Amino acid sequence: MRSYSLIVPAKINLYLEILGSRPDGYHELAMVLQSIDLADRIDLRSLSTDTIRVHCDNPQVPADKSNLAYRAAELMASEFPKSLAQYGGVEIAIAKRIPVAAGLAGGSANAAAVLVGIDLMWQLGLTQSELEELATQLGSDVPFCIAGGTAIATGRGEKLSTIPALTNLHVVLAKYRNLAVSTVWAYSTYRQQFGSTYLSDTESLQSRSSRVHSGPLVSAIAQKDGAKIGQLLHNDLEKVVLPEHPQVLRLREAFQSSGVLGTMMSGSGPTVFALAASESQAQEVKQAVRKLIPDPNLDLWATKLIANGIRVAN
Ligand code: ATP
Repeated sequence: MRSYSLIVPAKINLYLEILGSRPDGYHELAMVLQSIDLADRIDLRSLSTDTIRVHCDNPQVPADKSNLAYRAAELMASEFPKSLAQYGGVEIAIAKRIPVAAGLAGGSANAAAVLVGIDLMWQLGLTQSELEELATQLGSDVPFCIAGGTAIATGRGEKLSTIPALTNLHVVLAKYRNLAVSTVWAYSTYRQQFGSTYLSDTESLQSRSSRVHSGPLVSAIAQKDGAKIGQLLHNDLEKVVLPEHPQVLRLREAFQSSGVLGTMMSGSGPTVFALAASESQAQEVKQAVRKLIPDPNLDLWATKLIANGIRVAN
């Protein structure tokens, strides 16, 4: 087939703990990642030349080689030059619904979609683990975005253990349109402020990351206990982002006062999410927060947790 349309879900972090630094300069993390039903759409089309072209309906997103989706196509072209010659290049059209620089892995999910889509277009038949291996070369969140669902992610975020998917919960997201947080800034500020607490020996790092596997959040997820999951949400990056951006803290407080199961910033922020037990509760919470903070720059979404990552649109 010469064209594919893909649905590209965002993720939230139910848990993000920074354990230490790594020799490659990245942080050693322990996370629980969750796909949500807020998605971009990507249309891929074969080109008769060997070029890669990207365009996006959101002007905040670059249309050049710095676009992660472009880099994913470039990686496939360099890994599979014969297929590039046989099938031609690719045009990537991104319909952006996931807010940009929001801690929701929008760019990473786009890159994952391009890997999945080109695998199909070029009939490569790559396995999930082969796709994840390629994804690791593009960024720490990219491997998770391929299969999505609910997963524990350790290392830089690329070592994945899928756990039974959590699909019975709803989520409300809030983000100020004019506020973006750079992931690089958040992690480097965290290193400056908390670097002295980092674990350095392999044994302690391993024992801390295995603690997440057997920890209370993962058992609450296994039991689908929404109230407990809400209480156990955690994100170390809040320690640097909330003091810098009081309006993010205010959002968190607004959610808290609206009777949600739990609230937390996602990834490096500034999106704040809150878990709700039902669709009607999610709608009520969305309206309550809108009333508490009637700022026209505040975007709110009510959606649900989902069990999948990239999928072909029907
Ligand atoms: P993460 O949660 O993985 O840290 P994020 O959600 O915070 O990611 P992105 O939406 O991926 O952040 O955007 C981060 C930066 O990457 C943006 O400032 C944007 O310029 C750039 N970027 C490159 N490619 C894309 C893409 N396909 N979609 C969105 N942003 C992109």
